[in-house]
Amino acid sequence: MGRIALALRTGLELLETLRGDGREVWIDGERVADVTADPRFAGAARTLAELYDMPEEDGDLSYTSPTKGDSARLCWMEPQSPADLTAKRGMFKRWADHTGGMFVRSPDFLAVMASSFASAENVLGKDFGGNARTCYEAAREADLAMSHTLITPQVDRSKSVDAQDHDIAARIVRETDDGMVLSGARMLATLSPFCDELLVMPAPSYPLPDTDKGRAYAYAAYVPVGTPGLKLICRPSLAPQGAGSPMDWPLAARFDEMDAMVVFDEVLVPWERVFIFRDIDVCNAVYRESFAATQMAHQYVTKDLAKAEFMLGVALSVARAAKADEFLHVQNMLAELINMAETVRACLVASEANAGTTPFGTALPDRWPLEAMRFNFPTMFRRACDIVQNIGAGGLMMVPSAAELSGKLSDDVARYAQAANASATERVNLFRLAVDASTSGFAGRQQLYERYFAGDPVRAAAILFKSYDTDTYRKRIDDFLAVSEEATSP
Ligand SMILES: Cc1cc2nc3c(=O)[nH]c(=O)nc-3n(C[C@H](O)[C@H](O)[C@H](O)COP(=O)(O)OP(=O)(O)OC[C@H]3O[C@@H](n4cnc5c(N)ncnc54)[C@H](O)[C@@H]3O)c2cc1C
Repeated sequence: MGRIALALRTGLELLETLRGDGREVWIDGERVADVTADPRFAGAARTLAELYDMPEEDGDLSYTSPTKGDSARLCWMEPQSPADLTAKRGMFKRWADHTGGMFVRSPDFLAVMASSFASAENVLGKDFGGNARTCYEAAREADLAMSHTLITPQVDRSKSVDAQDHDIAARIVRETDDGMVLSGARMLATLSPFCDELLVMPAPSYPLPDTDKGRAYAYAAYVPVGTPGLKLICRPSLAPQGAGSPMDWPLAARFDEMDAMVVFDEVLVPWERVFIFRDIDVCNAVYRESFAATQMAHQYVTKDLAKAEFMLGVALSVARAAKADEFLHVQNMLAELINMAETVRACLVASEANAGTTPFGTALPDRWPLEAMRFNFPTMFRRACDIVQNIGAGGLMMVPSAAELSGKLSDDVARYAQAANASATERVNLFRLAVDASTSGFAGRQQLYERYFAGDPVRAAAILFKSYDTDTYRKRIDDFLAVSEEATSP
């Protein structure tokens, strides 16, 4: 890994971009003037800036840019060896640990996706594939924050997107000399109010038919969030807006990364930003043949590890506060969380230990341990929330707001909110965190995110079943039965 020749993009530089590009972000019926200052967004904007400002420890967050020779953030690297994968994991983990794995869509996720498409430029078609590389390189050099938007709005899931009665999904409405024009909507893009650009992609679990209408949805492009005609309509904020302290909802106050519907109103996307254009075959194969899903799983399973460790820490601390950790069944639940974290770690390390190589020469983590986590982590996380609820019990609900610690009744609170192993201040702060990690609206969104962010698990599991080498295991049974038959025949 090279020494840094030039500093990486700073948090302040990122925030200045968000203030100055004319982005159209809407929430609660009004347009947001400045996402870095609006209280519904400012906590997450600050967190994003903190990630960009994180100091390097012996060059562990950067590498030498192959085009410019100065430093680029490690998440953008096209890995050439298992050691590169391990180095990337180190960077993912430092970012994820900063937020307890709760700022789930940190920009390293999209950096990995973009770098996977660049590496696979040759499978993206000769006319447009090269743009996946040039856009990626520009994004890498500028160290952009990006999100993706893949899924069409939920209108009628019994029909494919081209056969909908209500024709509202974003599609190519025409072409000009300058580029393609998109109109319609995509269901959502997490983090988008804080992003420089969006990767607008086809959805992996919705194959498109090779028809004129189908081809209108067969595109992929890098689209700056500030592009005229692009509007983000946000869900209500989870960040606390009341009179209390941010310590009352310590995760929501800092990590509500936001989800927004993306509306394209005659958005012109210049040709040089388009990397799939009306190409059904490429669209339907892009995730499989670029191996993007596996590379991205390497990033998000690292986030899973940070989250599993964080939930373990919360549960251990809650159990210690009032000595619930002296009970056998509580120790059992804590052991379950320890096993959870170690299982995630084992899958991650195994994916690097058994890494292979893509047809285009980049190092590829082993898919299967990462798939195992993709499918198991949502249940694990829900169970972790359940365990924190079990151990914290009524104490999770009856924990006063942080403001009471210095309010008129602070003497009462200091006396009655303490626990055997925690002062009132320690207990209030810890239990407010435990509520936000396991029980609040923020925790509910985390659960939904883990369940769905990587696509519909039902269809994804069927795809996994069809792509696994099942013959080996069936043959093993055939062989076993043949031997038993021989052994038991008279
Ligand atoms: C917090 C959060 C953040 C997200 N962030 C992003 C993002 O940044 N970018 C992005 O593009 N997407 C994002 N998503 C969307 C995510 O990709 C989708 O939720 C996921 O792909 C499932 O699609 P859906 O929500 O439309 O569910 P649907 O596809 O509508 O499914 C609803 C139910 O119907 C079933 N179903 C639907 N169709 C079929 C079918 N054909 N066969 C069998 N069963 C079917 C499903 O199994 C499910 O039970 C996010 C989702 C969440 C919850």
